[in-house]
Amino acid sequence: AVRVKNLTRQFQQRKVLDDLDLTIAPGEFVALLGRSGSGKSTLLKAIAGLDHDVTGEGTLEVPHEVAVAFQDSRLLPWLRVLDNVELGVKPGRGKAALDEVGLKGRERAWPAELSGGEQQRVALARCLVREPRLLLADEPFGALDALTRIKMHALLRELCAKHRPAVLLVTHDVDEAVELADRVLVLQEGRIGLDLPAHDADRTHLLSALGIGVAA
Ligand code: ATP
Ligand code: MG
Repeated sequence: AVRVKNLTRQFQQRKVLDDLDLTIAPGEFVALLGRSGSGKSTLLKAIAGLDHDVTGEGTLEVPHEVAVAFQDSRLLPWLRVLDNVELGVKPGRGKAALDEVGLKGRERAWPAELSGGEQQRVALARCLVREPRLLLADEPFGALDALTRIKMHALLRELCAKHRPAVLLVTHDVDEAVELADRVLVLQEGRIGLDLPAHDADRTHLLSALGIGVAA
């Protein structure tokens, strides 16, 4: 579904992405870890086609039906919650999607009336109604409490099982990555430094790739 080859992105002189290669198969769920500032959001934006300054001999093959959940929810403040979810798609499915993310009854609220976590859930509902071939999500659960996060994990898993989109999920949480994904990647020095099947991704190994030493 996704093929990235020789992708480079620099800001001033600094190469944040440096000749990066990445392939994601249709229906594959990939989690992307990396330290803060390592370039995860930069990579997501490039794949989403939102960055026109990527360079390199790069090729970027991405399906047309892409949905993106950004690190900040990016709801349009002048549209009610339901209209945000249904923006640009055939109306009617938004309400069910809002029910699914636990926001039944909040359809007519304004984004500013929701908490940060609720806004993130609206953003996820907005992705889901699009039934994308590729879902790009940048720490969509970062602002959620533990219980809501568990519910959202279950929901995401269920929806992925149903629609089989390819997923690239950026997260800071090693356990979340291993739990949800088929494959776990670590972005290091502008490239995919570690690429492991989730079932034999070793937690200590991942943490040390993230520069987090664990006392023996
Ligand atoms: P976090 O986990 O904190 O979200 P990240 O891995 O998503 O971090 P990015 O947002 O991709 O990191 O940023 C990678 C680096 O590129 C950072 O050092 C950041 O300062 C720099 N950067 C990102 N966008 C720009 C920009 N528009 N102009 C200049 N530098 C930028
Ligand atoms: Mg980021």
